[in-house]
Amino acid sequence: MQYQGVLRKMMTEIGDEVQYYLDMKTDFLNMNQLISKEIKLSFVTYECLNCHLEKKIYRQGYCQSCFFDIPQAADWIMRPELSKAHLDEEDRDLAYEKRVQLQPHIVYLANSSNVKVGVTRKQQVPTRWIDQGAHEAIEIVEVPNRYLAGITEVALKEHVADKTNWRKMLKNDIEDVNLVEWREKLKEYIPAEATEYFIESNIETNINFPVTQYPAKPKSLNLIKTPTYTGKLVGIKGQYLIFEDETVFNVRSNEGLVVNIQI
Ligand SMILES: [Zn+2]
Repeated sequence: MQYQGVLRKMMTEIGDEVQYYLDMKTDFLNMNQLISKEIKLSFVTYECLNCHLEKKIYRQGYCQSCFFDIPQAADWIMRPELSKAHLDEEDRDLAYEKRVQLQPHIVYLANSSNVKVGVTRKQQVPTRWIDQGAHEAIEIVEVPNRYLAGITEVALKEHVADKTNWRKMLKNDIEDVNLVEWREKLKEYIPAEATEYFIESNIETNINFPVTQYPAKPKSLNLIKTPTYTGKLVGIKGQYLIFEDETVFNVRSNEGLVVNIQI
């Protein structure tokens, strides 16, 4: 069977084990069913996720001109503390910014290779954690807008990491930590504007990924430099496909590539 389409991050569903789905335009692939099968991946061309033109992808699935123009790629996406919709101030498109920023956000702790703090829209829980390959996570505060979440994250990252190590995450070189204790320890550093939003009691969410074999030395596949790759899929973690020969492919960081998948 052959499928062709523009890559977007895999959709997920939490359960005993995370279920992964890849939208290939005409077909919707349940990637879990492909584990232990041989897959051939080929690069076909580019397709910007916004303008749909065949232009080289610059970042986040967008061509360069879209990346510097559309509200979905503004700085406040990666740096929530720069959000300004709560002040009625426009960055690129105030209507869009109000819709996305003025809604409940969660500041959380997730552990994928180490404990880290992060921000997400409430409706993206637990999707965001799954995408990061976190095996455990917990919410700290639920605030009414993105700005408050951003300043809370900035304050907390003085005391806890805000990055993960993708190699450690994929090698499953992980430690179980007590996130409830971490939450309590960090509570005193929540900025004054956000303390009233502390979630009083909470438990960890544990996430199981469908992986049958972890790579000892993951090698990242660059589908532009190596336009065709064939390998046996042995698992999926975060947004990574993991193959038997220890090659890994990050679907999310390849958004906007048109690929052909042969099974
Ligand atoms: Zn574009």
